Amino acid sequence: MEITFNIADKFQSFLRTFRSEDGSFKYREQLLQIASLGLKSIKVSFIDLRIYDEELAIYAQRYPSRVLPELEKAAFDQLKVEARDYAEKIRKINVRFKDLIETFPLRKICVDHLGQLVQFEGIIVRATAVHPLLIKATFACKVCGHISESIPQEESTAIATPTICPNCKKSSWKLLEDRSEFINYQELRIQERPEDLPPGQIPRWIDIVVTDDLVDTARPGDNVVVTGIVKAKPQILPGRGGLRIFNLTVETNNIEVKGKEPEQIEITVEEEERIRKIASDPGIYEKLKASIAPAIYGYDDIKEAIVYMLFGGVPITVGGNQIRGDINILIIGDPGTGKSQLLQYVHRVAPRGLYTHGRGTTAAGLTAAVVRDKGGAMALEAGALVLSDRGVCAIDEIDKMRPEDRVAMHEAMEQQTVSIAKGGIVATLNARASIIAAANPAFGRYDPLRTVADNINLPVSILSRFDLIFVLRDKPDKSLDARIAEHVLMLHSTRELPEAPPIESEFLRKYIAYAKRINPKLSKEAMERIRDFYLKMRALSESSGSPIAITVRQLESIIRLAEARARAALRDTVTVEDTEAAIRLMGATLEQVGFDIASGKIDIDIIMTGKPKSMRDKLQLILSVVSKLEKENGMAGKDDLVKILEEEYGMDKTESVKLINQMLKEGTLYEHRPGFLKKTM
Ligand code: ADP
Ligand code: MG
Repeated sequence: MEITFNIADKFQSFLRTFRSEDGSFKYREQLLQIASLGLKSIKVSFIDLRIYDEELAIYAQRYPSRVLPELEKAAFDQLKVEARDYAEKIRKINVRFKDLIETFPLRKICVDHLGQLVQFEGIIVRATAVHPLLIKATFACKVCGHISESIPQEESTAIATPTICPNCKKSSWKLLEDRSEFINYQELRIQERPEDLPPGQIPRWIDIVVTDDLVDTARPGDNVVVTGIVKAKPQILPGRGGLRIFNLTVETNNIEVKGKEPEQIEITVEEEERIRKIASDPGIYEKLKASIAPAIYGYDDIKEAIVYMLFGGVPITVGGNQIRGDINILIIGDPGTGKSQLLQYVHRVAPRGLYTHGRGTTAAGLTAAVVRDKGGAMALEAGALVLSDRGVCAIDEIDKMRPEDRVAMHEAMEQQTVSIAKGGIVATLNARASIIAAANPAFGRYDPLRTVADNINLPVSILSRFDLIFVLRDKPDKSLDARIAEHVLMLHSTRELPEAPPIESEFLRKYIAYAKRINPKLSKEAMERIRDFYLKMRALSESSGSPIAITVRQLESIIRLAEARARAALRDTVTVEDTEAAIRLMGATLEQVGFDIASGKIDIDIIMTGKPKSMRDKLQLILSVVSKLEKENGMAGKDDLVKILEEEYGMDKTESVKLINQMLKEGTLYEHRPGFLKKTM
C-alpha cells in the first residue's frame, strides 16, 4: 500500500481544527485536560476521524502498526503546542481509539483480521499481575565496558542484544536496568458475554495484552469494549523453538469498561408503549407469573418469587455500608421435581443470566481463584458469581460446591464482593448478582422430620443468606399427579404449551431491563405495615418465651420483595399491597422450612443454627442428665439415661434414643464402654 499523504500532518490538523457540535475544539481541550490531570493518552472517537477524513480513518484501521506511531508523533506535537512543559515531561503520548464503526462478535475474530484494528466486546475472566516490560534496553559490554544505548525491544519474548561489541568484538552483554526503559504490562482474558452466547455454545475467549496506562483499568468481571490490533503470537516450546501453530492475541489500543448501567438492552418506542400498557394492567402479576417457565406445571409461589428476583429490590448505600437489593432464592427438592428446568429457564430470560453447576465450570468455581498460567505467571480468574455481576446467577446442585468456594460464598452473598489474596494477587471483585440455587436433599429425599439444615449439605451461615427457601417434595397426590401428567402428556403430544405465555420471554427480558430503571421508595403506609408485622412477630416470640420468630434479615428481605413487586408494575412507590404480598410469600416459605414441628411455631433458629429451639432444649436436657449420671457413677448408662428421660421428663423413648444416637454421631457424646456414655469435653 502506498500512502500518498503525510499522515502526521493530517492528524495534527484534525486535532487542531476538529470542532464538536457545540463548536468547541474537542481535542485541543482534551490535550489541555491531559496536561492538567497528568494523563498519558488521548482518546479519539473514530466517528470524528471519519467525519474529518475518511481516508485517514480507513488507513488507521487497516494498517494500525504503521499509522499509529505517526499519529502519536502528531498528537505529541500538538501537545507541545497546548502544554509545552507537560509534553517535555512525558515525552510521548498514546493515541487511543474508541467507537469504531463495527463491533465484531468475539468468536468472529480470526486470521482475516490479522494486523488490523478491530473492536469487540466481552467480559474479563482472567487478569495476570502487572509486570514491567522492557521496551528500550541499554547494555554494557562485560569485557570492555562499552555502552550500547537504547536498543529497541520488539515483540520477541527474548531480550534483543547487539550482536558484537563494536569496540572489542566480543559478545557478552549486561543489561543496565536503570538506563533502560520499561512499561507496565498485563495480560487479560476476554470471554464472550453470557448474553452474546449462541444457545448451547461454550463461550470463546481471547487473550489480550494491555500496556502502560491501560493496566489495571479493568478487572475480572468487568464488561469491556476492546479496541486493538489482531496479532499472531508464536507458541514457543522450550528447546524446540517456535511452532507453526500460532495463538491469536490482541495488542490493545484501548479498553473501555461498560456497564455502569445494569443492561444495555435496546428498547424501541413501540416496545416502551407496550411495556407501559402491560404494566398498568391490574392482572400484571398473574401475567408475569404465568410467563415464568410455562412448561413447568404449578409451583405458584416459586414462580412468584422468581418474578420478584428478576426485578429485584433497590440496593442502598448508607454511611459507607452497602445493602443489597438482589434477592436470593434456594430450592431444595427431591430429584425430578423440575428444579434444573426452572433454573435453566431463569438464566435464559434474565438479562445477564448465567447457569452453572455447584462445582463451577472453570477452575475459578463459583467465586474466584488465583491460577498458574502456562508460562508460570499467576493470574486472577473470575468465577460464576463475578461473571454474573449485575445479573442473575443460577447455580444448580449448589450442595456440591467446592470447599474453597464455601468460605468466599458468605462474602459474595451478603457484601456482593469476592476478595482474594493469594500468589501475590490481592483483589476485590464485584459480584452484585441475584442467586437462584437448587440443591438435592442430603439423604436423597427430603426428610420432613429433620430440619432444613439437616436436609441439605450446606452450612447454616450460607442458608441464612437466602431470602426465600423453598422445599419441593415429591409426594404422591392423586389429583395433582393427574394434572401434572395431563400437562406433560399434552406438551409431548402437541409440542405446544396449552396456552401461550402472556408475555413471551424475549419481551420479558426487555420489560425487566426497562423496569430496573425505576427505584421505588417505601410509602409511609407500607413502612408501617412492615414495622407492625416485624414487631408483632418479635413480640410473639418474646411472650411465649419461645423461638425467635423473625430477624432483621427477614425484615430486609420483605423490603426487597416489596420493592421488586412495585418495580414489576413500574411504580415508584411501594404500596401496602406490595408489602402484603411480600409478607405472604415470606410466610409461606418460612412455614415450609422454619416451621418447628414440635412447638408448632415458626422458628428462624432452624435456619440460623440448624436446630429448632425445642430440639436444642431437648439436647440440652440430655446433656444435663448425662452430666448428672457422670458425676454419680463416672459415666452414664444408656439404659438409665433413657429411663430417666422417660420417667422424669416425659421424653418419648424412641425420640430420646434417636437424639442420643445423633449426639454420638455429632461427637457431643461418646461411648466409653459399650452401653456407657460420656460427654466429650
Ligand atoms: P431436578 O433438577 O429437580 O432433579 P429436572 O429439572 O431435571 O429435575 O426435571 C426432570 C423432568 O421432569 C424434566 O424433564 C421436567 O420437565 C419434568 N418435570 C418435573 N416437574 C415438572 C412439572 N411440575 N411440570 C412439568 N414438568 C415437570
Ligand atoms: Mg437437577
